[in-house]
Amino acid sequence: MQSGMGELYSDRIKRTGTAIKTAEKLVIGAGAGLSAAAGIDYNGRRFTENLRPFIEKYGMKNLYTSSFYPFRTQEEKWAYWARHISLNRFETPVTELYLKLMELAFSKDYFIITTNVEGQFAKAGVEKSRFFEVQGNYGWFQCANACHDKLYDNERIVEQMLSETRDCRIPSSMVPKCPVCGGDMEVNLRKDNHFVQDSNWHKAQDNYRKFIIATAGKSTVFLELGVGFNTPGIIRFPFETMVNDNPDALLIRLNRDNPDGMPENHGSTISFAEDMTTVINDIH
Ligand SMILES: [Zn+2]
Repeated sequence: MQSGMGELYSDRIKRTGTAIKTAEKLVIGAGAGLSAAAGIDYNGRRFTENLRPFIEKYGMKNLYTSSFYPFRTQEEKWAYWARHISLNRFETPVTELYLKLMELAFSKDYFIITTNVEGQFAKAGVEKSRFFEVQGNYGWFQCANACHDKLYDNERIVEQMLSETRDCRIPSSMVPKCPVCGGDMEVNLRKDNHFVQDSNWHKAQDNYRKFIIATAGKSTVFLELGVGFNTPGIIRFPFETMVNDNPDALLIRLNRDNPDGMPENHGSTISFAEDMTTVINDIH
């Protein structure tokens, strides 16, 4: 039952398939590694081809670190963000890997917790009541000062910003302003203590809590995909704790770099460091 290299790939796949099929509850935890494997890559050609003018102007290295670039003006900031948001949230259709993953879940009683912000689960057809996007979503604007907790759908304004961008700037008249305090706006991504959690966020958190409470004493599979150590306190560590607490729980961890579970869970962890797309395709 040892995780990692001790057990043949085909045996781990077989056990995983059976476990998911027979589990009463399925909890999916999805991190950046899932989106990267799905093709929503923050590095390489996808980045250089889509952000070229910004890379030339600011020397940006990838789509992740460029999110923290200290733009001097709002006009420059929003020209960049319109491109970033449009690429990851609106131009990228639902990916094959997310669809394939959901084929494993749709017939189950499942819930998804994710730190990913590209809206792929909604695009894959997952009902709002079954996922919790902890870290926000590219598709929303919020007040940068978090003066009120309303979120604003940004699809149309992002599209307008893109079409009005000249020389990596949007026109001053298009810079979004908070309708309440008149200050700057921000993308609804958790990067500081001004992250806005609106009523939908709290409702999703509550749905997740209730689902977890209902797993007590039930055979439960925790399927964790591409969750690294950026924010392990959101998915990775709680999954290990919950598996440790429930004798009928199994952790299935897909992670290229850190696939092993904590030592206490060795008997109840199945680890995959193999290519995520191959593993998802092989489970049935
Ligand atoms: Zn405000």
